[in-house]
Amino acid sequence: MTPMPLIFAATSDLAGKVRGKAFPADQLDKRLKRGVGWTPTNVQITCFDRIAESPFGALGDLLLIPDPEAVADVCFDGGPSEHFMLGDITTLEGDPWDFCMRSLLKAALKRLHDQAGVNLICAFEHEFQLKALPAIDNEGYGRGGFQAQRALCETLMAALAQAGLEPDSIMKEYGPNQYEVVVGPAQGVRAADEAVILRELTRSAARSQGQAATFTPIRDPESVGNGVHIHMSFVNDAGTPVTYDKNGPCGMSQITDAFAAGVLKYLPNIIALTAPSVISYARLTPHRWSAAYNNLGFRDREASLRVCPVTARDPASIARQFNIEYRAADAAASPYLALAAILHAGTQGIEDALKSPDPTEEDLSLLSPEALQARGFVRLPETLEAALDAFEADSTVTGWFPGPFAAVYRAHKTAEIAHVADMDTAMRCAAYEGTY
Ligand code: GLU
Ligand code: MG
Repeated sequence: MTPMPLIFAATSDLAGKVRGKAFPADQLDKRLKRGVGWTPTNVQITCFDRIAESPFGALGDLLLIPDPEAVADVCFDGGPSEHFMLGDITTLEGDPWDFCMRSLLKAALKRLHDQAGVNLICAFEHEFQLKALPAIDNEGYGRGGFQAQRALCETLMAALAQAGLEPDSIMKEYGPNQYEVVVGPAQGVRAADEAVILRELTRSAARSQGQAATFTPIRDPESVGNGVHIHMSFVNDAGTPVTYDKNGPCGMSQITDAFAAGVLKYLPNIIALTAPSVISYARLTPHRWSAAYNNLGFRDREASLRVCPVTARDPASIARQFNIEYRAADAAASPYLALAAILHAGTQGIEDALKSPDPTEEDLSLLSPEALQARGFVRLPETLEAALDAFEADSTVTGWFPGPFAAVYRAHKTAEIAHVADMDTAMRCAAYEGTY
């Protein structure tokens, strides 16, 4: 029997999972208009397949409409081909649904554009680990560690290119069996589409080599975590870069400065959306090159927001390369939701004409809470519960999202927290490793 080619219509949801339905490929024209049916309560399926309390119950119908601009059609040697399309969830009337993460990002991008007349250029940098292998010792950034997985790295980079992403670099990261893959920047919602595509193709590439990859925030609190670092810059409608000003603080233009200030001000309130798992907070501790304070770093990796170095020399290339990097995210978050939260925080900073604090260069973990406060810094929430409290406590932040969003998010996360409540740290890490 000849297998029937299928296309998987997919959404990256509140749990940061990719879910959807497949349809026969020859129905594509119809599905691009009418989508596949979707159920509101699906948004309350946690990363552990529990269904959290849902305001929708058994009621309601939605459409998941695949976007032909967000497609991955890739064939791995010897394995089944991958063919999926990311899409938007709408009501039956065609309006964006309140809990469609991709639509929330589109709304945040529109707000940024309405407020500041700029468009986002963005690149996601991902770290992941290969499970089940004996750890390759002494190979942080090592050639040997890379060579051990050259076949996987070459397969993955080819798959990314086939899906229309621009492979940039791949390396053996510092942690045990940890790798990092970077793709070139893309504009607007496409950048988050690419982050979803990259995670799925990484898992598939590993599987095609008889391996398993995990993007879990942290596998072992004694070791390093897997970060998702989000690089952002801005262009105006003519495509001219507007992120850099050689006379601005750390080279930031006025827009970038105010955007960065907004992100830092609201970081404690949005971190529940960008680092949304229970174990995310084991990663977000000092001395891990992740993010423990709402500080700005100038080329410093121990900062939640970093002004990145540029390698270019001529002014036009510097202006194009210059970017800021949000480091307090992980792959338990849907890239759409994480980016939407960051953009709203930054846009609020532009709206309120905030100014960024000076970059830090010292070890903030040595400062008392009072000394931190005097300089406008806080230790970021240290548990998911505290992060959720901080999110819900700020009506400015909850106001960036549709009315019912905060309550539904809390209910979703409450079920996730309950699932791991009686587990010790090792079991929790194993549970998250099994889902991300
Ligand atoms: N693994 C670190 C993290 O959890 C990042 C290390 C790096 O700077 O690449 O974010
Ligand atoms: Mg890294």
